[in-house]
Amino acid sequence: MKTYDKLIFELSKPGRKGYDLPKDNFATDGMKEIPATLLREKAPELPEVTELDVVRHYTNLSNKNFGVDTGYYPLGSCTMKYNPKINEEVSAMPQFAALHPLQDASTVQGALELYYNLQQALANISGLAEFTLNPYAGAHGELTGLMVMRSYHMSRGDNKRTKVIVPNTAHGTNPASAMVAGLEVVEVKSKPNGSIDVEDLKPLLDDTVAGIMMTNPNTVGMFETEILEIAKLVHEAGGLLYYDGANLNPLLGKVRPGDMGFDIMHINLHKTFSTPHGGGGPGSGPVGVAEHLRGFLPNPHVRKNEKGEFYVDFGKDSLGSISTFLGNFGVMMRAYAYILSLGKENIRNVGPMATLNANYIKESLKDDYLLPIDGVCKHEFVFDGLKDKSTGVTTLNVAKRLLDYGFHAPTIYFPLLFHESMMIEPTETESKETLDEFIEVLHKIAKEAREIPEEVKNAPLTTIVRKLDETGAAKNPILTYRALKESVEG
Ligand SMILES: *Cc1c(COP(=O)(O)O)cnc(C)c1O
Repeated sequence: MKTYDKLIFELSKPGRKGYDLPKDNFATDGMKEIPATLLREKAPELPEVTELDVVRHYTNLSNKNFGVDTGYYPLGSCTMKYNPKINEEVSAMPQFAALHPLQDASTVQGALELYYNLQQALANISGLAEFTLNPYAGAHGELTGLMVMRSYHMSRGDNKRTKVIVPNTAHGTNPASAMVAGLEVVEVKSKPNGSIDVEDLKPLLDDTVAGIMMTNPNTVGMFETEILEIAKLVHEAGGLLYYDGANLNPLLGKVRPGDMGFDIMHINLHKTFSTPHGGGGPGSGPVGVAEHLRGFLPNPHVRKNEKGEFYVDFGKDSLGSISTFLGNFGVMMRAYAYILSLGKENIRNVGPMATLNANYIKESLKDDYLLPIDGVCKHEFVFDGLKDKSTGVTTLNVAKRLLDYGFHAPTIYFPLLFHESMMIEPTETESKETLDEFIEVLHKIAKEAREIPEEVKNAPLTTIVRKLDETGAAKNPILTYRALKESVEG
C-alpha cells in the first residue's frame, strides 16, 4: 500500500495525456501574436495522466471524506442537517447559476425576486424589520451586526459605548467579532444551569455598554428563560441586544428573536436552513435588524418599487459594503428552496423533532456520560466526558473512537464551561434507528474504556489517517501537490 506520506498523488507518467487541444484553434500563426514576454519558458509542471486516472483520483478522494450524505454527523452547535437534493437541483439551474453579477437589473428580475423574498421570509421567521443577505458566514454576520450596533450609537453622538457583554458560554466567534469591530469584550458569568447570571449582569450595565451578544437557546442547549428581563435591563441602560442565530433551529416558526427583544441578529443559512457546509464554506450569514436600525445595514439592498420591479439600492446612511455584489447567491437559493418546501405549516415541526432527538440521546446515555446540566434541553446538550474518569479515557479519546465505528465525532472541548465537553446535536433529520445505533456505540465505548482503555486511547485505529497533528496542520499547512512533494523530498 502506498502510504499517505509517500506521495499518494504521484500518478504522473511522462508523455501520458488526457486531452489534446484542437490544433485548428491554436495554429502556430496565432501563437506568434502572443508577446514573447508572456510566453512560458518552461512547460508547466502538471501531472501527466489520463482522463480515467483523474476520475479515479478525485472519486477516491471524495470517498475519503465524511459528510452528512455518508454518515451520522452529531456535531454540536453546527446543525449538520440533511440537505435535500432538490435544493441542489434548484441552485444549479442555469437560469440562476449562469447569471453575471454585473447584468442590468431588468435582465435578472427572477434572481432579485428570490433574493427579496428570502429577505422577507427571514424577517417573518425572526420577527425583525429588515434583512441583508450580504455577509458570507455567521462570523461575518456578527461583525456586520456589531458594526450596525456601533454605527447606531455613533449616529446619536453616543461615542463612549465601546463595550460588548458576552457570556462565558459564548462561541469563540462572538468575542473575536467584537474585537475586530473595535469593541471591548466584557464577560458575564453563567449560573450552574448554564443560563446568564442576571445578578452578575446588572453591575456591568452602564453608559459605556454598546450591547450584549447572546444565543438562545445558549450553547449548553438551554433556553434562557429570563430573556425578557435581560432585554429590559440592557435597553434601559441604552444598549442593544445581538442574537447569535446559530441556535435558531429549535425555535423555527415557534418563537422569534425579535419578540424576545433582540435588535440585531444573524442567521447561519448553512446551518438552520440546510445547505451543505463543513470544510470552511460556502456559507451565508444574513443579518436582520429592528425598525430603528434599518438605515445602518450594509450596501447593496434589493428592493421593490411600486410597479413591482426589483432593483438594487445603495442607502446613504449604510455602513458601506461588506461583501462583493450581493453575497453567496447559491447558498441563498438552497435556503429559499428549503423554506418553500417546508412551508409555514411544517417549519414549526423542525424544532420539536430536533429537540426530541437531543433529549432521547441525552437520557439514553446519562448513566455512562456525565450530564452536568440536568433537565429538558433544546436541540443540543453537553456531556462533561465519561462518568467514570478513573480509566483516564478522555473526551478526545471517545471522539476518536467514534470514528472507528463510522460516526463523525461531536463537538468537543466546547463550551469552555466544562473540562471535558462533548456537545451533541442530532438535528431533526435522523431516524430513531440511527440514534439507537449511535447510543449503542457510545455505550460500547464506555464499556471499552473500563475494560480495554489503552485501545480507546489509541483510537482511531481504522481510519485512513490516524491521530493528526492539528496544531502542525494549522501552523504549517501543506495545501498543494508541489508543497507536499517538497516536504517529502526535503
Ligand atoms: C457556527 C457558529 C457561529 C459562527 O458561524 P460561522 O457560519 O461558522 O461563521 C457562531 N456562533 C455559534 C453558536 C455557532 O455555532
